[in-house]
Amino acid sequence: MFLTDYHTHSLCSPDSSAPLTAMAQAARDAGMDELCLTDHCDLLSADGKLDLSFRWAPIEKQLALTRPVFAGILPIKMGLELGEAWEDPAAAAKLVSRPELDFVIGSVHNRGRASGGIDFYYVNYNSEETCYAALDDYFSCMEALAELDCYDVLGHVIYPLRYMNERDGNHVTLDRYWDRIREIFRRVIAKGKGIEVNTCRGRNIADWRPVLALYRDCGGTLITLGSDAHRPNDVGLGIRAAAELVKEMGFGSIAVYERRQPRLIRL
Ligand SMILES: [Zn+2]
Ligand SMILES: [Zn+2]
Repeated sequence: MFLTDYHTHSLCSPDSSAPLTAMAQAARDAGMDELCLTDHCDLLSADGKLDLSFRWAPIEKQLALTRPVFAGILPIKMGLELGEAWEDPAAAAKLVSRPELDFVIGSVHNRGRASGGIDFYYVNYNSEETCYAALDDYFSCMEALAELDCYDVLGHVIYPLRYMNERDGNHVTLDRYWDRIREIFRRVIAKGKGIEVNTCRGRNIADWRPVLALYRDCGGTLITLGSDAHRPNDVGLGIRAAAELVKEMGFGSIAVYERRQPRLIRL
């Protein structure tokens, strides 16, 4: 089975200190056939202020150092995890206009600026009411993101659940959001874009089952797999299980990207 990790971070992300060479070696050790570096570029700071300070130079430096070491061994794609693109669509479009860029994950990490713009990570989910208020906002932001052209796949659609349930002990579900997610998926598919299965460092695979069922029913075909690793030990975690789930759910392939063009690889 051809295995790819299309969601990884290096020391070019504020929340990682891993050199790309170490991430690439870990990808080889984990049996990956291709790696995509998707460092963070968030248009909102953790406390919700517009932040356009992102620079490509550190990412280009990491790639220039690492690609020659792994030439003929491991293709390393230049990706980006672009957060909060809907807050400044013109800036987002300019950021991803770089011709060398292979792949963009469009993510929602923060509440909309109208709701304070705080990172979902920093919310204390002390009641179900708090969770659902955050999820209402989360999917509104995703609806705005889905309309844009600056992304290739929607990042971790189930993202806030890792903090609400796993970390803070709630038991919220997406049951009241499936109709909205269906409309988001229809929009994404109509635009020729896809979704990722984000294993969250191997921790959640089963949570993707209903998401993949809905995506399949909407006619979706483009799926990437990502561990969301921020350190070498986490690279590739859950990728094989995610690929097997994708296959079991009736998809025949996963997508890889080059210069923002998808190519399907049979599972
Ligand atoms: Zn993310
Ligand atoms: Zn990430």
